[in-house]
Amino acid sequence: MAHTSQTPTKTSYDIVIIGGAIMGASTAWFLSQDADFDGRVLVVEKDVSYANCSTMHTNGCMRQQFSTELNVRISQFAADFVKNLPDYMGDPRVPQLSIRSFGYMYLADNEAFADILRANQLVQRAAGAATQLMSAEEIQRHYPFYNVDDILLGSINLVDEGLWDATAVFEAWRRSARENGVEFVENEVVAITKNVAGSRVESVTLKSGEVIACGQVLNASGPRAARTARMAGIDIPVEPRKRYSWVFKAERPLDRDLPLTIDPSGIHVRENGGGTYHCGGHTEPDPAVDYDDFTMDYSLWESHVWPILATRIPQFEAIKVTHEWAGHYAMNTFDHNAIMGPHHEVENFFFLNGFSGHGLQQSPAMGRGTAELLVHGAYRSLDLSPFNYDRIVAGRPIIENAVI
Ligand SMILES: Cc1cc2nc3c(=O)[nH]c(=O)nc-3n(C[C@H](O)[C@H](O)[C@H](O)COP(=O)(O)OP(=O)(O)OC[C@H]3O[C@@H](n4cnc5c(N)ncnc54)[C@H](O)[C@@H]3O)c2cc1C
Repeated sequence: MAHTSQTPTKTSYDIVIIGGAIMGASTAWFLSQDADFDGRVLVVEKDVSYANCSTMHTNGCMRQQFSTELNVRISQFAADFVKNLPDYMGDPRVPQLSIRSFGYMYLADNEAFADILRANQLVQRAAGAATQLMSAEEIQRHYPFYNVDDILLGSINLVDEGLWDATAVFEAWRRSARENGVEFVENEVVAITKNVAGSRVESVTLKSGEVIACGQVLNASGPRAARTARMAGIDIPVEPRKRYSWVFKAERPLDRDLPLTIDPSGIHVRENGGGTYHCGGHTEPDPAVDYDDFTMDYSLWESHVWPILATRIPQFEAIKVTHEWAGHYAMNTFDHNAIMGPHHEVENFFFLNGFSGHGLQQSPAMGRGTAELLVHGAYRSLDLSPFNYDRIVAGRPIIENAVI
């Protein structure tokens, strides 16, 4: 659907954020809360229906089960933020939220992956997460609906791990940021102009023709991150990868909550409430796709996904798909982790990109950290500098092996 472009009220802003979905909104809100900052912030979002952004295609879950301590800490902040939303936002209109903590159940069918789960559990527990390892017999006892014939080990955490209402948080951030003076416009950044030396961005050009001067610019463009960076002559290893989702109704629902189960095949499925379940998967190979390609692969369910589900959970022999859609991960092909901080040469160009399949839960910590960096020049709460763009230049990946 075509939308009418909105014109910003000014021709110059201290900070221009390109992309107004969950990452752009989080950063805008944290900026609007900083008592040391009274600068002008513009958020440019090309489609305020948000129909195709990652944020609206998500599975909506958070987990503590990561393989790096920093990612665990980031999710811990997310859990605290979500559970105490009215306090954090200082706004009684904001709903009290909870996390439906059915846990993520990682299943290992080989020793190599079982070893990874064991190593991850040590990292997670040291950081304060409640991850438990389970033998096949224990899994069977607690979750009798699984077929565990091929399973060696499971890993699950039932504290602050499961489903949460990200849409409520997203809406609260946008409303509050706007009320605090952040300007949101529906428009598209189509060009970025640097100074002669190439060391600073001077302005962004909008699709409607206006040239907007900016002190700092933040790339929060999701799967389009590389396209936005290229406007400033910058490369970033992020590409759109298709992720398919199916919601189905079971003829005989399970008698207890289904954890977000990560089958060894890569297919994942979780409780969705009311006798329905939410499943996700992708094709193999898994190529980059066009930014606007959201076509569904209808054969994938019948030929690949359903047989795997019905083998893992025989009760899912009799199910009916009620909704299905394709969305995009902003896949960081370098190391699957966030890409943040300033560019090493274009000093006022900042990244908030590459969140692959875990950006929703990272949005509170990453928005907070990015706001700190933009205003104070350094992270103040959680040190997120390991995620800085310069690791890519240096060829120094942070391997996160708990990727979905
Ligand atoms: C199927 C699926 C399941 C997922 N499940 C989970 C999950 O369970 N838990 C979790 O934590 N994460 C999950 N994720 C990942 C999470 O949804 C994303 O990491 C997160 O939403 C990224 O937010 P974003 O704001 O960076 O990007 P997006 O939501 O994609 O937003 C980017 C915005 O930028 C705008 N934009 C782009 N270019 C321009 C431009 N030039 N000018 C103006 N605007 C522009 C776009 O219109 C878009 O609205 C999932 C993702 C998918 C696809």
